[in-house]
Amino acid sequence: MLSKKITDGTEFVVFDMEWNQPMPGKEYPFDVSKLTGEIIEIGALKYVYDNGEIIYKDSFSTSIVPVQYTKLHYHVKKVTHKKNTDLLKGVPFKEAYAGFRDFCGDAILVGWGSSDPGMLKMNLSFFGLDPKLDMFFLDLQPIFSLFAGLRGSQRSVEAAVDFYKIDKNEIFHSATADAHYTGAVFEEIFKHNKPSEVISAISSSSIDPDVPSDFSFVGPECLDSTTAFASASRFIKKCPLCEKDLNAKIPPFRIRKSQYALLECRQHGELFSRTRVKKSKSGNFYPASVMRFATQNDYWLVASKKEEFDKYGEKGKPVEKTEEENNES
Ligand SMILES: [Zn+2]
Repeated sequence: MLSKKITDGTEFVVFDMEWNQPMPGKEYPFDVSKLTGEIIEIGALKYVYDNGEIIYKDSFSTSIVPVQYTKLHYHVKKVTHKKNTDLLKGVPFKEAYAGFRDFCGDAILVGWGSSDPGMLKMNLSFFGLDPKLDMFFLDLQPIFSLFAGLRGSQRSVEAAVDFYKIDKNEIFHSATADAHYTGAVFEEIFKHNKPSEVISAISSSSIDPDVPSDFSFVGPECLDSTTAFASASRFIKKCPLCEKDLNAKIPPFRIRKSQYALLECRQHGELFSRTRVKKSKSGNFYPASVMRFATQNDYWLVASKKEEFDKYGEKGKPVEKTEEENNES
């Protein structure tokens, strides 16, 4: 993905959202898959990058009155400590989003985990607004793992708060508190590492949420798995966005049941791909591939698999339970 250039004056908006969920088994007069969560709170902090530091500038917080999921789902109730009456306090989504978007300006959005931009876009679409965010997005979670030496693992924001010994004076799981904690972790990452390295990791990991970033492919049935793997090769030859030929930065290699590659489109950036061969009901083999714009975790995954492949070949490291089962998503 074309990365956003970070210079003095670049702004970041660290944000978090809470959303309510549909009641299981309840009938709704619309397709629930079009609104898997209705946003009820947005919290955000603004920072500006200046000379190797990020400096806190401003904060934003809003509660939204839901119109579809008006009773708290028990899980949301448990996690957020909200009450049903809390859902009556706030503003309509449209108004809340306008305020949030105005607050963001030209900033890069920063969140913990990759789900918030998609949820925001889903709510915009559902409520008839333009789903284009027109902002880059950075998932801070793998950046934290990278700098904390915990690559390939997913940690909660609370674990990151503990890692940096940040004061826990607010209850987790309100959007405002979690945005505050994510912002504190963001500050600590800059404090404890070389700013140039943080900037480089951040710019290579920020994505444009308005552009699809995940692609999948299911190939035809074949009589053996080698042919099935081969038939997936045309899928990883061309950029799924512009159809131009991809360069192989790490050419496809097969280890155990997966084939990995790191590819590059001149225009759109680096792509991670993984193909697995599955068995059909009739006993034939078919390839199932995923390709996505490479994140920090993906670079780590493909590099570590390649290292293992170079050392042990196609069968991989001879152990019963490998990291593969634990780490792959
Ligand atoms: Zn392309």
